[in-house]
Amino acid sequence: MGMSDSSVANGTRSARMDRVRARMEVLGVDAVLLSHGADLPWLTGYRAMPLERLTMLVLPLVGDPVLVVPGLEAPRVADAGGLFDLCPWSDAEDPIALVEGLLRKTGASRLAMSDRAWATTVLALQGRLVDAEWIDASRVTSPIRAVKDAAEIAALTAAGAAADRVADVLLSGGIPMIGRTEAEVSARIGALLIAEGHSAVNFAIVGSGPNAASPHHEPGSRVIGPDETVVCDFGGTLSLDGGPGYCSDMTRTVMTGQPTSEVSDCYEVLLEAQRQAVASAVAGVTAESVDQVARSIIDAAGYGDLFVHRTGHGIGIEEHEDPYLVVGNDEVLVPGHAFSVEPGIYQPGRFGMRLEDIVVIDEHGLPEPLNRADHQLVVVDG
Ligand code: ZN
Ligand code: ZN
Ligand code: ZN
Repeated sequence: MGMSDSSVANGTRSARMDRVRARMEVLGVDAVLLSHGADLPWLTGYRAMPLERLTMLVLPLVGDPVLVVPGLEAPRVADAGGLFDLCPWSDAEDPIALVEGLLRKTGASRLAMSDRAWATTVLALQGRLVDAEWIDASRVTSPIRAVKDAAEIAALTAAGAAADRVADVLLSGGIPMIGRTEAEVSARIGALLIAEGHSAVNFAIVGSGPNAASPHHEPGSRVIGPDETVVCDFGGTLSLDGGPGYCSDMTRTVMTGQPTSEVSDCYEVLLEAQRQAVASAVAGVTAESVDQVARSIIDAAGYGDLFVHRTGHGIGIEEHEDPYLVVGNDEVLVPGHAFSVEPGIYQPGRFGMRLEDIVVIDEHGLPEPLNRADHQLVVVDG
């Protein structure tokens, strides 16, 4: 008899908790307090609903972690295999007092508070624990979350492959463009993301013609015409084990007619910038150096002013997380880092283009793209 999915997942989570505790020790943190946001599901498999009622994992350096949860939410907490104790509270109780009591019991005084907790929670606890010292919990969790374990890489790989299948439909002309609104094309991409196994669509940006020059364009009522660039940037969340899912995020730019030589030339520069940036993302280089590789190629071609955003962002349980590929980030890349590489060139009022893949650094320290759909500027004239 093999281990069940949930016991495998709980083994992974207890390994994550060990990593968190090791880092708490390094940073001199007595307890980590997690609430809304991605740290909690990453560590426990349970995602707190964004209720006003308090959900808080109290994770002391020494002693049992306790999840303080609204009583009516307790049935949604999966069996955590002894990873933490459950402390459900009723509407007649004061949950802040419960958390305060747990912290006083352990004598914790240096506390790492979830970056995503409600301000009401933070201020109420600070009012009760006036001698405590507070830091952002992300200082403990982010560097660990940024380095994906095997289960996370499997989930990101599956999400990337599912997004690739959507891109294949797009690039083979399977999504009618000319005469459709951006919103219609966006809805079609979203439906395909779900059909390919995502549990949720996080975004499906469709920017056509002049709208393609706005990187985060909200797809709307503009009708797509012939001979336009159309930037399609889409992603969702996919779970392999029923637990919190992992994100996909990719961009392809298509043409609804033959590109002008100006558009073709721009795209050649973009393609080369993206290809070389991916190739440069090996273990041991800094995050900002990957940005610099893409930027210098686009700069040298004279389009530097038109590349108006960072080259990439980390990805995992959240769409955007550490490490960011941006000037000023001298963090060194290591195996397990997963991030987007997505340079773009935007001609205001005229056209735009972006090319994005998710890349993970493999155990040999080499960049492994999780998106492999055609990178060329494809003409879809339907
Ligand atoms: Zn973006
Ligand atoms: Zn994207
Ligand atoms: Zn992205």
